[in-house]
Amino acid sequence: MSTGGRGFQFQEPLLFEVSREGREGFSLPSSAKPRREPPAALRRIKDPRLPELSEPDVIRHFTRLSQWNFSIDTNFYPLGSCTMKHNPRVNEEVARYTGFAHAHPYQPDETVQGCLSLMHALERYLAEISGMDAVTLQPAAGAHGELTGLLLIRAYQTAKGNPRKKILIPDSAHGTNPATSSMVGYEVVQIKTGREGRTIASLIAQEMNEDVAGLMITNPNTLGLYETEIREICAIVHSKGGLVYGDGANMNALLSKARPGDAGIDVLHFNLHKTFTTPHGGGGPGAGPVAVKKILEPYLPVPRVVQKENGFVVEHNRPQSVGRVKAFFGNFGMLVRAYTYIREMGPEGLKRVTELAVLNANYIRARLKDSYHLPFETGQMHEVVFSDKFQKENGVTTMDVAKRLMDYGFAPPTIYFPLVVFGAIMIEPTETESKETLDRFCDAMIAIAEEAKKDPDLLRKAPHQTKLRRLDEVKAARELKLRFNFEA
Ligand SMILES: *Cc1c(COP(=O)(O)O)cnc(C)c1O
Repeated sequence: MSTGGRGFQFQEPLLFEVSREGREGFSLPSSAKPRREPPAALRRIKDPRLPELSEPDVIRHFTRLSQWNFSIDTNFYPLGSCTMKHNPRVNEEVARYTGFAHAHPYQPDETVQGCLSLMHALERYLAEISGMDAVTLQPAAGAHGELTGLLLIRAYQTAKGNPRKKILIPDSAHGTNPATSSMVGYEVVQIKTGREGRTIASLIAQEMNEDVAGLMITNPNTLGLYETEIREICAIVHSKGGLVYGDGANMNALLSKARPGDAGIDVLHFNLHKTFTTPHGGGGPGAGPVAVKKILEPYLPVPRVVQKENGFVVEHNRPQSVGRVKAFFGNFGMLVRAYTYIREMGPEGLKRVTELAVLNANYIRARLKDSYHLPFETGQMHEVVFSDKFQKENGVTTMDVAKRLMDYGFAPPTIYFPLVVFGAIMIEPTETESKETLDRFCDAMIAIAEEAKKDPDLLRKAPHQTKLRRLDEVKAARELKLRFNFEA
């Protein structure tokens, strides 16, 4: 039986709209001491415009909002590239241990040996998993890891005498790759994806020269395909003195199977909120550790946790370091969760993760390939990209399919990305979904493909089961309304 089969039910008035003058959320006994008034110059002229409600009204408002939030805990969330997998509750249990949760970053090293030891071990695990030599845990997200990694490449090239000018990036890359390159002061050279959806070594060779600091490459790429020429590509970049940055967002397809470091990658970020089951959060803390080969180790951000004979110490004095990229040690609570996950899974468990993630994506591919156009035919890994080519014949687009999916109670997949596929529908099931869930999702997708033929208008007006219908997204983006009009 389908859960959430009646769509999303979002609607809740603003607190300002339910406010009643004089209503209060608390009561305190009046103080026996005379009140000290602030100086007149600092006093408000008018009362602040704040909603006035009782405590139960406030609790109900936020509890309802939390229930109406669609999440990985409510139903299938097939957002491609984002690896929306279940967050095991054992991670939460361990992250709440008093010794972790109540540790203070300014405590003397000798009083936080457990925390330092955990970070040191996590660095070793991530190095082993990726085939690299050293790791920094500080970056707070994948994009932040990219920034850190490119700063490392820049520091390395500068030490060699010339920071160089350009970074090569395949056109299937995530938008953060070119954005990061620009932030670090590099010009981006776009490399065209080959006809089979993969990066071609000879095209890299054409663009690679002594002006190029390095290449950023995602493997498997955002089409869910393994870059079969990766070794050759790395060798070409290295032969001209460049370094290779691996975007590790898709590590879920490689765990205990293949190591980017072994293929020639010099620096790589992980997304702990993707591969290693820490919550994605709603803009909450993330973690994007960066792993490097020996040649880049001297430039890693400070501080570093170092193991000495009588315990772990925090080192700040590293003259070649690019400096700090984050306060203290990064988002430590996320590091505890990822550590717990890796210890829970072990090498065999991680291998099984990858096998099931790839199996699940291929299952969806097989079930949907007659209903949705598959732009690339070969060797699917952990995610699968379809297009709306078949639906377009009836005037139905990827956007319509995504909106209609909400009526069936599922989060829409990633759409219109990667840019190299027109009308892309990018589905990543992850290994934590059961066959029954995948079947319910595929049944819904197939039903939608049938609707597109018989009743295209139904799709063009979708969603129908949500309290708000199709939004005018262009208008919403052009005419931002960020303030509530209090006077109205
Ligand atoms: C998610 C993702 C990123 C960015 O990671 P964030 O943690 O969201 O900053 C970069 N590249 C790819 C391929 C991704 O999927």
